[in-house]
Amino acid sequence: MKKKSISIFGVTGSVGSSTLELLRQRKNEFDVVAITCNKNIDLLLELSREFSPKALCVADENYYLDLKEKAGKNIECFGGSEGLKDIANYRTDIVVASIVGLAGLEPLLNSIKNSSIIALANKECVVAAGSLIKKQTKINDCQIIPIDSEHNAIFQILDGKPIEDVSKIFLTASGGPFHGLNQDELGKVTPEQAIKHPVWNMGKKISVDSATLMNKGLEIIEAHHLFSLESKKIQVIIHKQSIIHGLTLMKNGALLGYFGKPSMLNPIDHALSWPVCKNNDIDPISIEDLNNLSVESVSDEDFKSIYLSRYALEKGGFYPIFLNASNEVAVNAFLENKIKFLDIPDVIEKVIEEIGHSSNKSLETMGNIEEIVTADTEARIKTLEIIG
Ligand code: MG
Repeated sequence: MKKKSISIFGVTGSVGSSTLELLRQRKNEFDVVAITCNKNIDLLLELSREFSPKALCVADENYYLDLKEKAGKNIECFGGSEGLKDIANYRTDIVVASIVGLAGLEPLLNSIKNSSIIALANKECVVAAGSLIKKQTKINDCQIIPIDSEHNAIFQILDGKPIEDVSKIFLTASGGPFHGLNQDELGKVTPEQAIKHPVWNMGKKISVDSATLMNKGLEIIEAHHLFSLESKKIQVIIHKQSIIHGLTLMKNGALLGYFGKPSMLNPIDHALSWPVCKNNDIDPISIEDLNNLSVESVSDEDFKSIYLSRYALEKGGFYPIFLNASNEVAVNAFLENKIKFLDIPDVIEKVIEEIGHSSNKSLETMGNIEEIVTADTEARIKTLEIIG
């Protein structure tokens, strides 16, 4: 059997390490071509010894010389955002795109040109540049398989069914660690509490996004692009057990669902094996796991982050970029104890109010990376200004 070649962007993060866990189980099926990290070059080098890739890249340029020296002569080393773009020029069968945030956009666009399948974890890029990404995948005949668990579930349910047959999709949210707390209690939560998710084990940024429900807001925009669905056909429901990952109501009234243990291994394994389904060592779901499952509908008014996300999606143009950029900056400020938990959506709202009017593009026609990066930078500067 011919091995599949694979590159992993963001290999030292949570999606990266889940991917490697699967590759360890299927060593004779994959050739690792390139791996990248943000700063953690010691772990990158350790993984390099284990998986023998052709190339390494560290996104933070300050670590580049150190990496090059330690890696030795037999391996190509790259650094910085240019390095990430370069490393995306290696031809591969699969790219796992799991850099967090818009920093992943340019490497992603290069990967689309050079790879057959993108296992996409980076929702921020889809939110900010969904139309551009879709256009490029079409031109380059590249298949995107979402590994965001909810979108992967919907992708598996749809499995080529015409989107016209779908009345509605449901994105499940566990509600995060603070579900049920009142405003007073929410006002006091700390970064340490926010990054401890009750069910999922994830990176810091996405854990805070889960707690504010902005993660679900971004996922609405992500689903809009990935499945060509309008906002009103995408509904969020709270499902605390995280066993149902996606539900699709068909126009004939049937509700199709995807059930699985709350583990990133499932969607990643699906993307690595696609289009076939393979045996694996992942702990399978049992029928008892379906006991006592609950779902609760939520209204957009209950969660400001969801309301703001739909607003940005409906306004189109630069609005989703502003939403995403201000959220990234606000979450960082919260993690650094510079703002309170409840300030996060308020800051985003202010940014959108103050610079949103400069947005005059239609979301579907946006197609230029410079415009996207400029809008993103503008929103970051405005957010920092508002935070003070
Ligand atoms: Mg998700």
